[in-house]
Formats: sequence, structure tokens, C-alpha cells
Amino acid sequence: MNTKLNLVQKQDDEIVQELKLKVSEESKLLVEILNLLEQVRDRKIYTDYGCSSLFDFCVKELKYSEGAAMRRINALKLQGQSAAIKELIHESLENGSLNLSHLGAVAKLDRAENFSIEQLEQAIIASQETSARETEKVIRKKLNLTPLIEKVKVTLELNAEQLLNAQRLAAQFSHALPTPDLPGLFLYLLERESRKAIERSEKMKKEPRKVELQGDSRQVQGRKVGQRQERRQERRQEPHDGKALSTSAVIQVPRSFSQQFRDQALRRAGYQCEFVSQVSRKRCESRWFLQLDHVVPWSLGGQSTLENCRVVCGAHNRAEWIRVRDSMGTGGNTREGVHLSPES
Ligand SMILES: [Zn+2]
Repeated sequence: MNTKLNLVQKQDDEIVQELKLKVSEESKLLVEILNLLEQVRDRKIYTDYGCSSLFDFCVKELKYSEGAAMRRINALKLQGQSAAIKELIHESLENGSLNLSHLGAVAKLDRAENFSIEQLEQAIIASQETSARETEKVIRKKLNLTPLIEKVKVTLELNAEQLLNAQRLAAQFSHALPTPDLPGLFLYLLERESRKAIERSEKMKKEPRKVELQGDSRQVQGRKVGQRQERRQERRQEPHDGKALSTSAVIQVPRSFSQQFRDQALRRAGYQCEFVSQVSRKRCESRWFLQLDHVVPWSLGGQSTLENCRVVCGAHNRAEWIRVRDSMGTGGNTREGVHLSPES
């Protein structure tokens, strides 16, 4: 209480001065503690206290947190490498140019790279010039080690509309995603678009003159799009006689649904699997990996119309495919490709 009163009466700069003094004492104390811990370790004193290791002793007898115990043990391991290293560490801790977090980063890197004494010394000196967080990066640079590959964790918040869009895209690309979740979708799109961008730039590098000679590149682009649309139109209008088609005929006549059609079907289904259990009469609640499915299979003359299509999740599309295959004994070719495949 008295101390508290004394502190309140002190000037700001007096507080700071006293604090600095205490921190310096704390650093000296830390070095003394490390020396004592070294004795406990080397003489195995911890065993007398029913502890299996120095770490155990630090946590159970000295009441350090596990992290605090680990940091001190890391420092001990480093200072045990040589007398010169020990001196360097103690000096740096006392003058405040290093703390236990720096040493933890050095120890981690030492374990991974198996430093020589010279490298260890360089690493400790390099870490004096930086924050504990940057230690590994700085040491890697200083010692010409392979640069640290930083992973970036991205947190995304989607609103309802964006989530709906993501689900729609997941349905469209369900057959190609590396993992069946949102990160899988984003990674797939990232890779896909990057590949496209690289291909475009390589194409431009190869044929820059051609494009120039043809004049307005937007016009050229427009023509290409027009041609593509015409081809699609032709494909859509191809007649389909309603009889069972051979595998090759199935390949020649596209039976995938148009983008607009898919959107309509997904909206109608409320972006939810439309499978209804014959037993429980309950509708499947899955909203993931939605695919468009012909109610009457395409191979049996089922048309690609809204009436003859339903939205199903991956599991129900597969189950239905197996059911139809078994009932028809067709060997399984007739229903492949009814996924919501992306427009090529
Ligand atoms: Zn389902």
C-alpha cells in the first residue's frame, strides 16, 4: 500500500528510470537463473524432486508456464554449445539486445540447419539487430540459407450473396476441386485463372505482330467470341432422336446444360439438393457440389429441359448413377458427364 502511494507521488520520468533499472535487474536475474538451471540439469537434481526432466521440474517445481520453461531450456541448450557462445548470450541478455524469444528462434533454426559454432555465433549476433518475430528471416538472409517461404493465411468473410455465388461456383466446378470446401474452390479458381493469364501472356509473346497486323485487337477478340457463340448455338440446335445413343454419339452430341439453364435450375432448387428420400419423404439438405441431373437419362431420350432436370448433390448424383446403371446393366457409360461442367 505504501509502495503504491509512493509510486503515485513520483514524477513520470522517475517512473521510467526506475522501470529501466528493474528491467536491467530482471535481465541479470535471468542470467543467474540460467546458471542455476544449468546446475539442476547437469547434476540431475530434478530427479530428486520426482521430475523426469528439467522441463518437468521447471513446470512442476518452479511453476513456470510450459512456454516459459521451454524458452529457458532452449537458451540453456544454446549456451551449452561453447564457452564463447555462453558469454555472448549472457552479455546480450544483460544488455537487453536479446531476449528469450530471440534465442528460441535461433534454437529452432539451429535444430533445422545444424549450425557450426561460427554460424551459431553469427546467428546470435544477427538476431540482436532485429525483432524476435523477424529473427528467422534475418538469420536466413545473413547466413545465406534458403529463404523462409512464408505462408499466408487468409480469412474471408462472405455476405449471404457472396456465399450464394461461392456455392454456385462450387456446384459448377464440383468435379475439379482439390478439396470439397470453400478453400478448395478458391485455390482451384486461383490456379485456373493464373494458368489462363500465363497462357495469354505467352500467346501474346509468340504472336505480337500478328495481332498488330490485324488491327484493333478488340475487334479480333469480338470476332472470336462471335464464332464461339455460333458454334455453341449450332450444338444446342443439334437434333436428338430420343433413342438410346452409343457412347461415341454421346460424346459427339453435348448433353451438358447451358450456363443460363444451370442458373435457372439452381435458383429453382433454392441451391439445395432436390433428392427426396422414398422412405422418409425428406429432402436432402446438402448445398455442396450441386450437379444437374437428367430425371429421364439422356441416353434414354431424356431432354435437357428444366422439366427433365433436377439439382442433386455429389452423393446423390453418384447414388442415382449407380441405381440407373444397375437397373439397365449398361456398364456405366450412359450417365457420366451430367455434372455441371464449366463451359470450355
Ligand atoms: Zn443430396
